[in-house]
Amino acid sequence: MILPIYCEPNPVLHQETEPITEITDEIRELAANMRETMRKAQGIGLAAPQIGKLISLLVVEMDDPEDPEASFPYLALINPRVTWKSKRMVNIVEGCLSIPGKEGSVQRPDRVRVKAKNLDGDTVEIDTDGMLARVLQHEIDHLHGILFTEYIPKKQLKERKIVDYPRL
Ligand SMILES: [Zn+2]
Repeated sequence: MILPIYCEPNPVLHQETEPITEITDEIRELAANMRETMRKAQGIGLAAPQIGKLISLLVVEMDDPEDPEASFPYLALINPRVTWKSKRMVNIVEGCLSIPGKEGSVQRPDRVRVKAKNLDGDTVEIDTDGMLARVLQHEIDHLHGILFTEYIPKKQLKERKIVDYPRL
């Protein structure tokens, strides 16, 4: 099911989320719906506050046949946290499904280690760089009410093409 995406300036995007204490069928279904919504919106990551839920859940997936090096498989992560980040920083242009039509270059650590639970309740640890490291940092920020635009001056935001998807 495609869910409407909550957009700026909705206050739900600026709040801390609650940890998930039990992985129920409802959580699994929500993750599946978030994946479907992310695909529809042509995004590569989506966090629960973006569909109006203040819980610690995110999904990521990038499947671009033209850019296999930057692609990564579908992951649904529960209560994810960054346990280590590299001192090396890189600039990458980011956009956000909750800030349609805008993008900007953000500096973040190149490599991170993330600890989380998957939908089976197993603990997973992801050590990654490149696009996946970038998306994970952006989505984990959402779980703490932080948007990428907070890292850069407003005048450095550029226009980006808008994809049609339901928004709130
Ligand atoms: Zn975002």
